[in-house]
Amino acid sequence: MTTAFDTTGLERCIHCGLCLEACPTYKITQLETESPRGRLHLMGAIADRRIDLSRSDATVLHLDRCLACRACEAVCPSGVPYGRLIEETRAAVAQARGISPLGQLLLWSVSRPWVLGAMNAVLSISERTGLRRLARRFLSPRLRRLDALAPPVGRPQYRPVQVESPRSSVALLLGCVMRASYGDVHTATARVLAHFGVEVVETPDQACCGALHAHAGNKEEAIRLAKRNVAAFERADVILVNAAGCGAHLKSYAHLLEDRPNWAARATALASRVRDVSEFLETIAGDETFGELAMRVTYQDPCHLAHAQGIRAEPRALLSRVRGLELVEMANADVCCGSAGFYNLAQPDYADRLLEPKIDAILATRPDAVVTGNPGCMLQLAAGLRSRGREGIPVLHLVEVLDRALETR
Ligand code: SF4
Ligand code: SF4
Repeated sequence: MTTAFDTTGLERCIHCGLCLEACPTYKITQLETESPRGRLHLMGAIADRRIDLSRSDATVLHLDRCLACRACEAVCPSGVPYGRLIEETRAAVAQARGISPLGQLLLWSVSRPWVLGAMNAVLSISERTGLRRLARRFLSPRLRRLDALAPPVGRPQYRPVQVESPRSSVALLLGCVMRASYGDVHTATARVLAHFGVEVVETPDQACCGALHAHAGNKEEAIRLAKRNVAAFERADVILVNAAGCGAHLKSYAHLLEDRPNWAARATALASRVRDVSEFLETIAGDETFGELAMRVTYQDPCHLAHAQGIRAEPRALLSRVRGLELVEMANADVCCGSAGFYNLAQPDYADRLLEPKIDAILATRPDAVVTGNPGCMLQLAAGLRSRGREGIPVLHLVEVLDRALETR
């Protein structure tokens, strides 16, 4: 039987259909059941117990195929909180049917930095010794896919940057995949901040933000991780995030902990102090330019930056401050690339159908590099470019571009 879940906001849907053309899965299939409106209808039927989740595989499939990209939420005139509703529904699905073993393993891993660190070390050794290349020949298609989407290995760990007489300080969310595999992006973030006199203070008790857990329906673990971060970041004036998915999730802590008496007010206070790195830099940079970089780039909007946080102009404005850098807009830059947490593993067919036109759009701009602001997008786009033999086009985080440009000053 289906567990009751919070459907607040569902009643705001007036079935106008304005969200349909914004929905990537609807655009692929033209099916109402693969659209936001159709999925909201299914959510209502589940809540009213007209659909029993334990028996309806089709309903669960339509919900699973949702990317939780929130493109529908961004265009909805009625303010339907789709992102929150799909998370609540997925928690109900997880209660009724459990989470797949692969999903459980991935969720267990990402909330334990030592596991990701150990995996990174093993992959790094096997890469250096050629073992990984050899092993690829014997992998099943599913494992080969996992290998193709695995985070990069061998990139330098995060190194804090000292700032003489800082004018202000921020705390930096280190995250899970970002901490294990993109430590150099954190270092680049700290260096760019240091240029403006902003110091990154250590926050040793922080944890994974829990976004992947919430998206997969593991609400209890998401709440446990949220509480840890609320306590860890309590004294920070600004909590800076350079992974769009994590930033959007930290900003939603107020909702996640709203019915926990000792945590609700603290979570609301924390959420109001969270800033994406582009949002923060655009505020403090004033009229400054970022040096020079002769480069032609295109920018991919991470869904959880553009749709969930409404941040589209800031990254572009920052890129426009780099002399010599040419930003060429790709078609449909804010349409999901198919990464979406574990979506590219759980729904490979749909993920590929989104990635293919994305790579076409990127290549049409003839870029020297692709710029974005979320590790999932970086992995997915790099895998897509590799599959076309275009691995020579790097996928860079926005702060890597700014950091490189600042080096030229
Ligand atoms: S979710 Fe919003 S845009 Fe979509 S059908 Fe409902 S009211 Fe219309
Ligand atoms: S979150 Fe994205 S994939 Fe899901 S219904 Fe909304 S627009 Fe479609």
